[in-house]
Amino acid sequence: MVKKEFSPETWEELSHDLSEKWNDMQDEIIGMQVENLTKGANNGVDKWYEKQLKQNRIVEKSVLSIIKKHKDDIDFETDKAYLKANEVAQDLVKERLGEAPDIDATKFIENKIEENEEVYKYLTLANVKAKTLLVNKTYALAKLKMSKRISWTLEEETKILYDAMERTVDNDLSKMIGVTYKNGRQITFRSYMEMRIRTDINHVAIDMMEDASNRLGVVFFLCNQFGDCADDHRPYQGKVYVLENWRNLVSSDKLDEYTDYIQKNNIQTLESIKGAPVYLGTRPNCRHTFTPITFEQATNKNQTLKDLGLSAKGKANKEKYEASQKQRAYERAIRDYKLKYNNVLIQARSVNNDEVKLKLLEKAKKYRGYISYFQKQIRELLANNSYLARDYARENINKATYDLGANYNKKG
Ligand SMILES: [Zn+2]
Repeated sequence: MVKKEFSPETWEELSHDLSEKWNDMQDEIIGMQVENLTKGANNGVDKWYEKQLKQNRIVEKSVLSIIKKHKDDIDFETDKAYLKANEVAQDLVKERLGEAPDIDATKFIENKIEENEEVYKYLTLANVKAKTLLVNKTYALAKLKMSKRISWTLEEETKILYDAMERTVDNDLSKMIGVTYKNGRQITFRSYMEMRIRTDINHVAIDMMEDASNRLGVVFFLCNQFGDCADDHRPYQGKVYVLENWRNLVSSDKLDEYTDYIQKNNIQTLESIKGAPVYLGTRPNCRHTFTPITFEQATNKNQTLKDLGLSAKGKANKEKYEASQKQRAYERAIRDYKLKYNNVLIQARSVNNDEVKLKLLEKAKKYRGYISYFQKQIRELLANNSYLARDYARENINKATYDLGANYNKKG
């Protein structure tokens, strides 16, 4: 059952299944990369390097076939998520304005499916590029270690190679398939996608809601308020906003009255505050939402805020929010260690050298320990905060919505 309200929780819920499908695909691609990197590793460093250089085209083919396998699921979930977003938008308009004209969701969905195609292309290129970087970095690390002595036994070379491989897989692989922002910040592809999916659904639902409202001649929107609002959103919350093209949407007898109100109260356009630099209601984890209101409601703003339950909420909310963010952080740690655990096991399976195998298995055991530790942290957190619920899907490496957006963007 989807929550029928415009809130970060709603977008998280709507994006859950879709994020899961992207995650499934990404986890499979990472596993393939890790396994591919072990090819030839029992034959000494130089022979391994020679073999690895020939693997680029194989990586490309493998990525394409993994994408092909997951594409239909992703497109299906895309469709589902945006149809639900449309339902939420329509329900809100109906609740506030008494009726809601049908919105054609098809054009929104078609755009998103086209965008998916772009992402598949990006992902393929990024993985081929990552493969080269990964091989070269691993080789450089191994060679550096080997520069200390003239000759090494094959056993020793295998050991050196696996050491280097572990380091690059642990530290670099997911970053290599990541996205770099203009400010230089790097995030993994997985976090990027989850954040993007969630904010996209939010943006589209806002567009759908505006579309339905303005067909009813409603051009004013009221932004809700929070006591623990982010500082930079504080001056913008609890205010009335108007659509940029409101003049084309209202009957001519209202023009003077509306113009007068807009000028006297210095009402800004909805478009101007939704975009850069304010991003009110559109930045990930922002809880600000816009409710369509009539002109009468706009002129009685403070009463309307109270009547519609949109006025400032207190500290209790902030504590709740922080506890849930803590839970998300523990879930992220669990997923990270599960991925590392899987990668180490893939490497352990491929190696002939018993000593290396043992070391990898010990490392796997260590990661298991971290996983248990964070699971315990979650249990304690939940015991102290009864309103939180365990979500095993979030801790599962193959079935999770990782909420990394929370880390990247401040709340608002
Ligand atoms: Zn905000």
